[in-house]
Amino acid sequence: MSNSKWEDGVRKVVPYVPGEQPKDTNIIKLNTNENPYPPAPEVRDILDSFDESRMRLYPAPDAAVLTEAIAERYGVSPEQVFVGVGSDDVISMAFLTFFNSGKPVFFPDITYSFYDVWADVYRIPYETKPLRDDLTIDPEDYKKPNGGIIFPNPNAPTGILESVDMIEDIVKANPDSVVMIDEAYIDFGGESCLPLTEKYENLLVIQTFSKSRSMAGMRIGFAIGSKKLIKYMNDVKFSINSYTMNTVTQLCGAAAVKNEKYFRESVDRIIATRENTKKILADMGFTFPDSKSNFIFAKPPCKSAEYLFNELKKRKIFVRWWDKPVIRDYMRITIGTDAEMDEFIKAVREVIAE
Ligand SMILES: *Cc1c(COP(=O)(O)O)cnc(C)c1O
Repeated sequence: MSNSKWEDGVRKVVPYVPGEQPKDTNIIKLNTNENPYPPAPEVRDILDSFDESRMRLYPAPDAAVLTEAIAERYGVSPEQVFVGVGSDDVISMAFLTFFNSGKPVFFPDITYSFYDVWADVYRIPYETKPLRDDLTIDPEDYKKPNGGIIFPNPNAPTGILESVDMIEDIVKANPDSVVMIDEAYIDFGGESCLPLTEKYENLLVIQTFSKSRSMAGMRIGFAIGSKKLIKYMNDVKFSINSYTMNTVTQLCGAAAVKNEKYFRESVDRIIATRENTKKILADMGFTFPDSKSNFIFAKPPCKSAEYLFNELKKRKIFVRWWDKPVIRDYMRITIGTDAEMDEFIKAVREVIAE
């Protein structure tokens, strides 16, 4: 197909490919790290009592109810909180705001596969840093001149948690650029580096309601950092679209974040299921890095990960598999309910025994 002249001026990108969202609801869905449990019960109350005539009005551009609820929960001031339509929106805004030096941004070669897409769409140069053989991050790689740094902790799709000390070491070595830590999975047993944001003006910590708070469909993400960082992000956001988060979402998010007890219970249940699943997989001969997230990145003992992925799909069990160097030997299994994991294990045993 030949290019028309007008296409020369098109911003061309290769988009991010999210995990499948099959229409069939009669499947076991362990492929996109969603939470198998419902959100906090207060969310139901908000939906039941919402007066639809409020929809005539624009939502609060600063999403104050939600920003304030998050600030209160995390012990920071509302001016240190930026909220967005999922952390994808937050991270995208942060790339646009902070990664403009012209120097390459650093992130691991095996990581969340949206980072290189944002870098490409915004024309930000980047360099990927190889993980060590054990799939951990080598902090020394991040101590060279750069235009910014981002990685998830725990990393995705490995599930490996790095220590707060290691992250502080990286932040300390980089006073001249913004360091972003994507804590999408931190609630599943990791120690957050949020306290470091009080000490380092250039550290941005990003979290989401999609995983630990069971609200992927509502699209809520947030970043916490110094007032300066947050002000810069808001200036960019309000230069593009002030009304990104709708009123219902703001209210539901605020209600959810206030129920600490429910949050703890549902996170603990997932951790317990994860640890149990690790034991069973290890007994079956799977190998995997020790995950502190709501998924396990596992290498099958026999048969290829690709084969297992396809056979599971035939049995209506969806996991994630990438046809990429190094990681093609692994499949990423989201932790579902105990019942879902039983079905998954049963199917895996069947396929392996064939
Ligand atoms: C899931 C995920 C996100 C995005 O989550 P949102 O649903 O957009 O909040 C960001 N980073 C990582 C590493 C993730 O796994």
